[in-house]
Order: sequence, then C-alpha cells, then structure tokens
Amino acid sequence: MNFCSHCGNPVEQRIPLGDNRLRFVCPQCQTIHYQNPRIIAGCLPVWGEQVLLCRRAIEPRCGFWTLPAGFMENGETLEQAAARETQEEACARVRELSLYTLFDLPHISQLYVFFRAELVDLDFAAGEESLEVQLFHEHEIPWQELAFPTVGRTLKCYFADRREQVYPIRNEGIAALRPRE
Ligand SMILES: [Zn+2]
Repeated sequence: MNFCSHCGNPVEQRIPLGDNRLRFVCPQCQTIHYQNPRIIAGCLPVWGEQVLLCRRAIEPRCGFWTLPAGFMENGETLEQAAARETQEEACARVRELSLYTLFDLPHISQLYVFFRAELVDLDFAAGEESLEVQLFHEHEIPWQELAFPTVGRTLKCYFADRREQVYPIRNEGIAALRPRE
C-alpha cells in the first residue's frame, strides 16, 4: 500500500513498538495498517448422486469449472459466507452445511474453506460471475478443466468419502494440492 486509507498521507514501513513484523504505518495519524490472510468460503452442493459446479465468467481461470466460493465479508459467519456465495454464483439455496475441507495457502495468504451442503431444490442458474451451472455425476466431472486445486482436492475427497459414508473434516496444506505422480 502507498497511502493511508484513514487520512491519505503516504505510509511508511516499520516495525511498531511491541510488534515483530514490518507493517504499513501512517506517520501522520499513526494508524497501523495490518494485513491479514483472506478467507475464501464455499460449498460443495449435493443433489442425490450429483454435485453442482459453476463455470467461471471472471478471471482468474475464466471458463474453468469451480465450486461456488468467494471472499468472506465482514459481519457474516463462515457458513453464511459459503451459502451467500452459492446463492450469488449459482442462484442456488443450500441446507445442512457441514464443515468439510480447509486449505492453508500461506504463499498467497489465503485460507480456503468448503462446506458440504444439500441443494434445497433444482432451481439454480448462472449468477453474475458464472457462465453456466450444472450438476455432475462423478464420472462426468471435468477434472482437466477445474479452476483451482482446492476444488479438485475437495471433489476427490468427497467421492472417496462417499464410498465409506464417512466425511471427516480435512485440514490440509498445499502439499495435498500438488499433482501426484
Ligand atoms: Zn493516516
């Protein structure tokens, strides 16, 4: 950042008293501008044997398939964020959300969280950020056209867990997202 979002003065980088990291600090109004990881919340919407995917209408990864997800907003819970993103991107309502996968991505300062969820009905459609929205059986998943490794990993976990009918919460780092040989 270059300028203080509070008073508009140019900011400088220094370690505030009692801190141990470089921060953007405003020498004018003394505001310390902390920058923290961003949380991306989403759903794996399920309808019987099928799961709902959205084809992205926006960059990054425009044209690729994803689970509905997006940045958590101030003033909402994680679960609300996941349901809201599902509504916005797939015009779909979900219920019975269950925390499922968490991915720590420290290299880009993001935390991805997906909930398993049941579609309430088949009344869905492409939202503003989607080109199309579609239900897929496992053998129809466009594995080579998925937008993000977190999406592919969540789907892989889901189909494996479904065979066992047990869905443990999976907290994984980037190692789990690397392509396997
Ligand atoms: Zn300032």
